[in-house]
Amino acid sequence: MEKKQFKAESKRLLDMMINSIYTHKEIFLRELISNASDATDKLYYNAMQAGNAGLSRDDLTITVEPDKEARTLTVTDKGIGMTPDELENNLGTIAQSGSLAFKQEHNLDSDVDIIGQFGVGFYSAFMVAKKIVVLSKAAGSDKAFRWESDGADGYTIEEAEKADNGTEITLYIKDNTEDENYDEYLETYTLRNLIKKYSDYIRYPIVMPMPKSRDWEEGEEHDESEEYATTIENETVNSMVPVWKKTKAELGEKEYEEFYKAKFNDFEDPARCIHQNVEGVTTYTALMFIPSRTPFNYYSKDYEKGLQLYSNGVMIMEKCADLLPDYFSFVKGLVDSPDLSLNISREMLQHDRQLKSIAASLEKKIKSELLNMQRGDREKYESFFKNFGLQIKFGIYSSYGMKKDLLQDLLLYYSSSEKKPVTLDEYVGRMKESQPYIYYACGESTAKLDMLPQTELLKDKGFEILYLTDEIDEFALKSMRDYKEKEFRSVSDAALDVEDEAEKEEIKKTAEDNKSLFDFMKEHLGENVKEVRLSSRLKSHPVCLTSDGGISLEMEKVLNAMPGNEEKVKATRVLEINASHPIFAALTKAYAEDKEKAGKLTDILYAQASLIEGIAIEDPVAYANAVCSLLTDAQ
Ligand code: ADP
Repeated sequence: MEKKQFKAESKRLLDMMINSIYTHKEIFLRELISNASDATDKLYYNAMQAGNAGLSRDDLTITVEPDKEARTLTVTDKGIGMTPDELENNLGTIAQSGSLAFKQEHNLDSDVDIIGQFGVGFYSAFMVAKKIVVLSKAAGSDKAFRWESDGADGYTIEEAEKADNGTEITLYIKDNTEDENYDEYLETYTLRNLIKKYSDYIRYPIVMPMPKSRDWEEGEEHDESEEYATTIENETVNSMVPVWKKTKAELGEKEYEEFYKAKFNDFEDPARCIHQNVEGVTTYTALMFIPSRTPFNYYSKDYEKGLQLYSNGVMIMEKCADLLPDYFSFVKGLVDSPDLSLNISREMLQHDRQLKSIAASLEKKIKSELLNMQRGDREKYESFFKNFGLQIKFGIYSSYGMKKDLLQDLLLYYSSSEKKPVTLDEYVGRMKESQPYIYYACGESTAKLDMLPQTELLKDKGFEILYLTDEIDEFALKSMRDYKEKEFRSVSDAALDVEDEAEKEEIKKTAEDNKSLFDFMKEHLGENVKEVRLSSRLKSHPVCLTSDGGISLEMEKVLNAMPGNEEKVKATRVLEINASHPIFAALTKAYAEDKEKAGKLTDILYAQASLIEGIAIEDPVAYANAVCSLLTDAQ
């Protein structure tokens, strides 16, 4: 019999399969079962068209049967079957295959990846089989044919015997190698798990002969050592009904959790399960989960966001990124919509109106579920925010505040007065009438911020301060500008507007009285500061640095620490002095009697104010010497 060669592009793919280093060899079974299901669909559809209503899906089984002795695995369906021409065209070439077209279109040279992304159907069986025999009888035909190939050498087709229509695919499983254990594809339990994992929602029963233990019957002969008899019974392995097609009432919390863990490879229960059924312009079911821990690669570029996409229970995409905005990229789950076409390509999806409308509605749903969690289970929400809050803050910042309305109520910040994370709504609800702004302080840790001189007066006046410890925080707040019409204001901002009239008067007077001292100090510090002024915010501390203008001291630090930021930014500094601190008296005295000493004191105070802010001083040696010389003077 003449052996035919595979078409060129099929041969390339075949070589790739046979020598595949791809780790998910197991997907071959999903591919074969999905082909079997398609073929059964076609038969079922034709029968319906022809008015044959007597056909039941339950009878159209797909059988998966391993034979350890013969080292074969056989997948059988009762579907439409293939004529010899179809055997030739469908299995001899993969020109129609979506994956190859995609690969060529995008000029991808990484063959291996593409297998994982799309599956390459029938050919994937060559990853585990050294020889494949396909016995098929097309529905309505009285002849059956046998297609056989050992991969590289091409294939043969000959007439054969087969009683019923449908296709029987027998894989001759490869021998074990040092690196690969092919035997497992002959193990009933491995196969059963693979079916559950990949093909659970196929709408026809996937049947496997399973060994079952039973008691010995009266008089049945058996060896004394064998307690039970074993019989082989056919068992339907797949559940056929997708979990998400069940109602919420049918599904208990446990079932959602188990589904999540099995499907999304997490060992912990999710923090929240979201099951949404929408009917209307777009109809879909979504099953989404918020993980209770941060995936190890979440904040790296390796992390891929997306939801699985199904069309009527059949998976069309493993990770559809367009369904989730970046700020909700932590959500895992799936969407099933009958409105989506099965054969939709990745590029087409991006422009798909249905998909856009689903994404918009998912976004709303996720937000409302997060708010429910925040109100209903605060502890859980706080833990959620610890895991994924950064992503939400990035969302606000990177959208230049455009997503403010959507995201602002999800934020949590540590509060100076409550000593725990609070929402902006809670903060504003507690604001005193005399309080003009929402105050915040930025720094490394809440403990450090609590010691910051700039927070003293505000706390003294009973104003709450939000302590911001993430680098993105101040940038995000600046892009929001305000919350419920209350502007955000840094405790280091030049103007805090917290003094009453009498205090203002007094400050003004002291400032005027000491104007020449401040001018002297400013002159001495030169370009380092824009101004030296009397402080209204300090109580017990001698000095602090504040900033004037759009860039704060904290932002200066963050921006300058970014790799590749050649042009350093500088916040406009203002040195503030506390007139009621003893050092002020010393300063005034020195200014009157010893200008050199006054200059030295000014340098030291400026350096100290910088250190308190966590800013490195330019000349630590000069600073140390100055302190030493003053200490020696004091002796
Ligand atoms: P794809 O399924 O992506 O089209 P495959 O390589 O898996 O690519 O299959 C090629 C074609 O072979 C299918 O489109 C189908 O026409 C045919 N085929 C595969 N398996 C079967 C089967 N079990 N019964 C009938 N036809 C089949």
